Amino acid sequence: MSASLELRMQPWRAGSPAAPVHRSHWLDEALALEPSQGGAPLAGEQRADVCVVGGGFTGLWTALRLLEQAPSLQVVIVEADVCGSGASGRNSGGTGHWWTKLPLLLRLLGRDDACNVLAHSVQAVQDIHDFAARHGIDAGLRREPSAWTTTMRGQPEPWAPMFKAAQSVGLQPPHRVLGADELRALFGAAPAYSGIIEDTSTRMQPARFARQLRRLALARGVRVHEHSPVTRIAGGAQGVRVETPTGAVLAAQVVLAANAWMAHLPAFRPYIAVVSSDIVMTGPIPQLLEQHGLTRRPAGLNARQMVNYGGLTREGRVYVGRGGGSIAYGNRITAAFDYSARRAAEVEGDLRYLYPELAEVPIERSWAGPIDRTPSGLPWFGCLAEDARVHYGIGYSGHGVAASALGGRILTAQLLQREDEWRELGRCLQRARGGYYPIEPLRSIAAHTIRAAVARKEQTEQEGRGASRLDRLLAGYANASLPRPPGRI
Ligand SMILES: Cc1cc2nc3c(=O)[nH]c(=O)nc-3n(C[C@H](O)[C@H](O)[C@H](O)COP(=O)(O)OP(=O)(O)OC[C@H]3O[C@@H](n4cnc5c(N)ncnc54)[C@H](O)[C@@H]3O)c2cc1C
Repeated sequence: MSASLELRMQPWRAGSPAAPVHRSHWLDEALALEPSQGGAPLAGEQRADVCVVGGGFTGLWTALRLLEQAPSLQVVIVEADVCGSGASGRNSGGTGHWWTKLPLLLRLLGRDDACNVLAHSVQAVQDIHDFAARHGIDAGLRREPSAWTTTMRGQPEPWAPMFKAAQSVGLQPPHRVLGADELRALFGAAPAYSGIIEDTSTRMQPARFARQLRRLALARGVRVHEHSPVTRIAGGAQGVRVETPTGAVLAAQVVLAANAWMAHLPAFRPYIAVVSSDIVMTGPIPQLLEQHGLTRRPAGLNARQMVNYGGLTREGRVYVGRGGGSIAYGNRITAAFDYSARRAAEVEGDLRYLYPELAEVPIERSWAGPIDRTPSGLPWFGCLAEDARVHYGIGYSGHGVAASALGGRILTAQLLQREDEWRELGRCLQRARGGYYPIEPLRSIAAHTIRAAVARKEQTEQEGRGASRLDRLLAGYANASLPRPPGRI
């Protein structure tokens, strides 16, 4: 235990506080569907057993799992905006397991631990379905096909290592390779040169799911304070003090669940790079979708380095996203991580390329969100070296919808000091943590140079021309990091 911890969170909403908040379509839809209830800003001094900073999936799952195991605990969530307004309410809703990470898991952890982590990630998806059924969560949670395709001629097929790794451990991935006829039947005129499909992958309306978790948290007695940005966290002899401009919580333990917004803190900065992921969406066009046979086209992603993902909504909108947009200097989040006209225009170009049938359809919504990227692409969970009462989960790297449900289990085991399967899983993920990124300004200079090379390479390849040798060389460093330093975090 330590009294020396002193963390300063980055100012909430850089720029003008009066500027309108840019929300995702999912969050607007979710907020319109629910009665306004609870969530008053933190006021005055409070005490709690556990104070959770951030009301996204990580914070909400942790609060709910904690109370399942220890119902008498006093739990408070302090959220800067509204629950689900972060990445949890902005993402594409893909609720995936870690099958595609199997080669990496085997390399980092060896056969037994890799298979164990994989099995937990698969179970996490089923757990989400079971939880939603048990608690009447209506959030568009469904099983439907999801494809991974090459969308440029001659593009390498990135799924080959997954099948090879699966074979080496005697397992069968849930995907199958799409034959030429099926590709045509599903993708019609769109660029789809090869691909794999998972027929029963999971998808949800993410903001609606987050808001339903919030409803359950309130019903279980969690004190949820929204519009309450945490400014300072300080360790003391009486507990850990979490401060906002209008109040404070003195808690026995704290969970940092603020995702990319906490990636600037010294404990995380070397290991996390914050980049944006940007989404554009059409209005509802159900008739056009029928007319062009687009209702058959599965949701999914493509094989680009700046990956495109997307699908259809229930009311017949088409959305496409792209990873690797804006880069956060020093991991400080700017307004471009809510919305960037420049990135939206780039992603609109992707939508026009991937859906040539929709050349004339206007874009109705666009938004962005931050991604907390680790060199390995895996999250990790732990407690701060300076103060073991402060726990955290970070680093989902754009794959946090199902993984944050695992995070809730792991953080609960840590908080309750249980030696169970989740604690062991948390230790495995600690071991799988990759290297670190260089310090600023070197980090941003390298990131911008590599990003520009990847963009040029993929643009020229998309146009059927070969990329330059230099761009191919630089693009090869996109996932590079420095080796992991000795010491602990
Ligand atoms: C555009 C986009 C698409 C994505 N697509 C997918 C996908 O299809 N599948 C997938 O698995 N993952 C996807 N992800 C990643 C996934 O959304 C995240 O990994 C996951 O939601 C992380 O949950 P979280 O609770 O840790 O973070 P968040 O949901 O970001 O929650 C953190 C919360 O902390 C709050 N906060 C920040 N600062 C403070 C402060 N000072 N005080 C109090 N609160 C604070 C924020 O307002 C926010 O609500 C995507 C992400 C983005 C941005």
